[in-house]
Amino acid sequence: MSNVSNDVLISEVGPRDGLQSVAITMPTADKCRWIDALVSAGVREIEVASFVPASLMPQMADAAQVVRHAMKHDGVTIMALVPNRRGAQAAIEAGVHKMTVPVSASEAHSLANVRKTRQQMLAEVKEIVALRNGSAAQVKIEVGISTAFGCTIQGKVDEDEVIRLAEAAVAAGVDEVGLSDTTGMANPAQVRRLFARLQAALGAKAGAAHMHNTRGLGLANCLAAYDAGVRTFDSSLAGLGGCPYAPGASGNVVTEDLVFMFESMGIHTGVDLEKLLEARISLAAGLPGQPLYGMTPEAGLPIGFKQEHLND
Ligand SMILES: [Zn+2]
Repeated sequence: MSNVSNDVLISEVGPRDGLQSVAITMPTADKCRWIDALVSAGVREIEVASFVPASLMPQMADAAQVVRHAMKHDGVTIMALVPNRRGAQAAIEAGVHKMTVPVSASEAHSLANVRKTRQQMLAEVKEIVALRNGSAAQVKIEVGISTAFGCTIQGKVDEDEVIRLAEAAVAAGVDEVGLSDTTGMANPAQVRRLFARLQAALGAKAGAAHMHNTRGLGLANCLAAYDAGVRTFDSSLAGLGGCPYAPGASGNVVTEDLVFMFESMGIHTGVDLEKLLEARISLAAGLPGQPLYGMTPEAGLPIGFKQEHLND
């Protein structure tokens, strides 16, 4: 498609992070059509499911099926969230390329989200790494540190603790550690500072920025993370989702707006904005009545806007 290598990687989390906070269950066929539309738009990393018990999250009961469908696309990294060893086993069996394990920086959020302390979660991470190392599959493991910028339950989160947790995750054998503003409390100065520290501590193992737009700072925080050297950004088509276990937390960064910001700055995402806007149709078809967010979709692309590097 393009001869130009992309400057940043947009990691779409809508089919997982988005759907898990929606009450209605999207039919499997609609999820697959939505993922296909994202791939057509040029999205090259998608978190498609969460491997959790169907009794806890009926929305994710078809995780293995969705993964198997998504894996038909070449050149796309298919990710899934796994909260524990059992989930990791199922994700590896389904054939994912990469697993994300959430570890909370806040002890209170950890207990609310996965009913484990941070130390217990790190022990779980070690077990997941051992499982992966013992399997034939070359599955990458990323730890996403949730509530890294503040917690709706405990309030302030100590930055030293976030970095110590990230280092402990690397010591446990994971490939990457990203930071999540699960609760939408981050500001750009804090984002720049904490990602700079993460990169100083972890080098190439410093991972993605997962920002929320709860207080309107999602894009500003992504840009701050970019300035600090981050090159992978999580976002959700139409801003679907947030975190069901962090009270008051809503609003993933809108993929359409994020792609527009980078592309209009001349920073290549590899994502075709017109096709990305079309992908909203598949999302809406699978979730009738669900509000879709985004400023760029509302306003449309500016006159004369072109993504020259996407031309065949
Ligand atoms: Zn999120």
